[in-house]
Amino acid sequence: MSSDKPRCHCAVFGVFGSPAAAQLTYFGLIAQQHRGQEASGIVTAEFDDTLGRARFHWHKDFGLVDDVYKDSRIMADVLKGQSAIGHNRYSTAGASDNKANIQPFTVHYRDGNIAIAHNGNLTNFRQIRTDLEQKGTIFQTTSDTEVILHLIARSSRTDQIDQIAEALALVRGAFSIVIMTDDKLIAARDNAGFRPLAIGRNWKAFVIASETVAFDIIDAEYIRDVAPGEIVIIDAESLETGEVHSRRITADPPDPHHCIFEYVYFSRPDSQIFGHSVDKVRRRLGKNLARTAPVTPKNPDDKVIVINVPDSSNTATMGYVQQMQKDGRNARMEIGLIRSHYIGRTFIQPRQEIRQNKVKTKFNPVKGVLKDRVVVVVDDSIVRGTTSKQLVQLIRQAEPKEVHFRVSSPPITHPCYYGMDFPTPSELIANQCGGDVAKIAEELGVDSLAYLTVDELIASAPQEQGQHYCTACFSGRYPVDIEAGQLKEENEP
Ligand code: SF4
Repeated sequence: MSSDKPRCHCAVFGVFGSPAAAQLTYFGLIAQQHRGQEASGIVTAEFDDTLGRARFHWHKDFGLVDDVYKDSRIMADVLKGQSAIGHNRYSTAGASDNKANIQPFTVHYRDGNIAIAHNGNLTNFRQIRTDLEQKGTIFQTTSDTEVILHLIARSSRTDQIDQIAEALALVRGAFSIVIMTDDKLIAARDNAGFRPLAIGRNWKAFVIASETVAFDIIDAEYIRDVAPGEIVIIDAESLETGEVHSRRITADPPDPHHCIFEYVYFSRPDSQIFGHSVDKVRRRLGKNLARTAPVTPKNPDDKVIVINVPDSSNTATMGYVQQMQKDGRNARMEIGLIRSHYIGRTFIQPRQEIRQNKVKTKFNPVKGVLKDRVVVVVDDSIVRGTTSKQLVQLIRQAEPKEVHFRVSSPPITHPCYYGMDFPTPSELIANQCGGDVAKIAEELGVDSLAYLTVDELIASAPQEQGQHYCTACFSGRYPVDIEAGQLKEENEP
């Protein structure tokens, strides 16, 4: 993963019907660490015959998954039960320093225990929260997810799945969620299906995950995605029949607008999301970039060296080089930048000058590879441009003949309201340069710069009947309305 990237959403995971529910969840969260490094939590359900319902147990804390559960007693003595849900967080709604905001959230209400973990961002939660507060609801957290729990608890319906459907019909925006009750595991996805959510099986047990990479680590089989607007219910009967129960949140037909940035950067290349291999799509992004923006050296005898920005642009770079070679161009891929894995993520540093220092310590150019070469740097996206500029300066120190920059997505110009945390619009380099690519190239200090266009990006992604993508951060076209109180100001500090 290169630096100066939008902050990832969150990861969710769920298990039903395994004696090792907590352990499976732990591994599922480890595999999805890239989707959230700030905090992690697991809640388990242990059925208690004397109570006639489950006891819920949980452990949550700030930090990486390995750190949060490092005490072996947590798995052995605390997180008991046959069902579990888990969450890795990078907060996109709600204060990040409040431990109460670490998911999964749990409540005990008139119909039993319920726990929820959410990936995405609700676009109308402020209004719902205000309404609920006026009716006397007391919130424990500042997270948008908590409104779903209160809506479930306040529902007048008697059936718990009806209560959940009623609550989910009221919220807007992006949600891929797992909910655990005393005797069920429930997975649901908003009608646009912004974020991925997959169903798998590990022996008899059912598992749910944001990305299928979480299934590979526990040898689970990927069955299918939770469809946009679908509620999937897994219960004791599912374990016997091997079938999940399914219903719609509302009678509305699905209106898919999958987040295209999942293919560009967020998801791991070894995952399948929205029913397709991320690796294949990312490679196609690189190939199309080479078709539309190949690099021709000023001197035709010079060989072109194409380098990746580790690790997020590795796959797109391979696609770019393959296409260049296919088109008969004298190009080859080299490892020109070495990334230190022991340096903290750059965006944790709030101040610009500190961030710049960290970029230097995170990447080091391989001088022998770059000296006197025509170098093409392929990256998946440019946000502020801070890292890209710094990288170009580092590469220039190795004395290449030319430095060209290619980006396998369009310029980022707008904020995301569906679960991704971009800097404010005025901090985005594309906006600072008025959308003028030549000006951005000048700012970065490169001989040439090219991006994919929005149309080229969409054309690189799988095309299916009725399939649409969200491209709002590139195009400003938001497929689901944003409530007025949540709109970000163009000149937000
Ligand atoms: S605005 Fe961008 S990051 Fe957000 S859902 Fe749409 S494509 Fe994804």
